[in-house]
Amino acid sequence: MKKDEGNGLPLDYLIRAALILPLSPDLPSAISSGYVGIRGSTIACMGAGAGEKWPAREVIEARGMLVMPGLVNTHTHGAMTLFRGLADDLPLKAWLEEHIFPAEARIIDPETVYWGSLLACAEMIRSGTTTCGDGYFCLEGTARAVEEAGLRAVLAHGIIDFPAPGVPDPAENIAAVRRFVERWQGVSDRIRPGVFPHSLYTCSARTLQEAKGLARQHQLPLFIHLAETREEVEQVRQTTGRSPVRFLKDLDLLDSRTVSVHATWVEGEELDLLTETGTAVSHCPESNLKLAAGVTPVPEMLCRGVRVGLGTDGCASNNDLDLLREMRTTALLHKVAGMDPTVMDAPSLVRMAALGGAEVLGWEKEIGSLQTGKQADLIIIDLDRPHLTPLYNPYSHLVYAASGADVDTVFIAGRMVMRRKELLTLDWKEIRNRVREIGKRLANP
Ligand SMILES: [Zn+2]
Repeated sequence: MKKDEGNGLPLDYLIRAALILPLSPDLPSAISSGYVGIRGSTIACMGAGAGEKWPAREVIEARGMLVMPGLVNTHTHGAMTLFRGLADDLPLKAWLEEHIFPAEARIIDPETVYWGSLLACAEMIRSGTTTCGDGYFCLEGTARAVEEAGLRAVLAHGIIDFPAPGVPDPAENIAAVRRFVERWQGVSDRIRPGVFPHSLYTCSARTLQEAKGLARQHQLPLFIHLAETREEVEQVRQTTGRSPVRFLKDLDLLDSRTVSVHATWVEGEELDLLTETGTAVSHCPESNLKLAAGVTPVPEMLCRGVRVGLGTDGCASNNDLDLLREMRTTALLHKVAGMDPTVMDAPSLVRMAALGGAEVLGWEKEIGSLQTGKQADLIIIDLDRPHLTPLYNPYSHLVYAASGADVDTVFIAGRMVMRRKELLTLDWKEIRNRVREIGKRLANP
């Protein structure tokens, strides 16, 4: 085989004749017919034309296809796919306390978390998500699943001040996270540990500070559900005399490694605090809509320079992990909420779902855009479909017409994990059967 001009080795894959959206500030917004070359885990070359000078072990003809960075889901609870459709149409408090917490107490253990997480990995890969921020318990099961699936993830171990799956004694909650962090930090290029104190209504001030201390010690991201509902804000005001954001600021929990999940009920001073401290926001609009939690002021956050990424939240409150559909919901929600059809335009949404998410997770140097030298996390979308015809503007189609079902092929860290809609790393039938068994156990106690 002829040698290339790189380091003398052929590419592993050459994807060519594709419409490419690099999402990189240094590159055009779209390359109408271009190539991307992958060697090892990284993008070795890309550009306009056919890439003839790059010999490759495998050439993927992608005429009529779109290549873009893999999507980044900044907030989910993967194993909660097990609770998809278990309890709908309820307020957050009743939904959590009467349905989700009891269901978790009954069936969540490392093995069920493993199978629920495998299901989440299968769903994410199939719908174009290559990286997620997952916060949950019994997270060893999720780590196993992510390893096997070949997904990339920040795995943030849950912390609450009452008995939790895998942590029956709340006095041990920080120690359990510390063990998980020490087990996973630096072990895998695709898995980074994180810390996930669940919320202000499930964690004491002391627990929150200990969680942040651990995160700072290891330079880890900290995720927290924050100011999700009006009830939460009222409760925190009654007990502390402050807003949730001000309270966290006073506890020294806000900085550039903190990800505030939801941040629905924030305004004025709270927006100033998020901006000044560099705190990121994970916006989960479908979960907010379904639980009637409220509308996060995302356009205002973006104007102030706050990093905002998209999240699905768990499958119990969404009820899927499809980020392409989440983009569309986000655009539509903010247009009607602001009575302004010009806000949250399609290119901004696509950026938010990929590079924006990578920035929220602190992974933007490696992923989120297509650029030589970055990780080869990319998805190929089939445009040869009735609902994607004709094509004037690919960003428009991605936000307003496409769904996760249009994703054809997926690479993560240079490894092909889905080819022509076939999962290559996961045994779908086995996952399906095991999850159905768990579902039967839950439905028939
Ligand atoms: Zn959540």
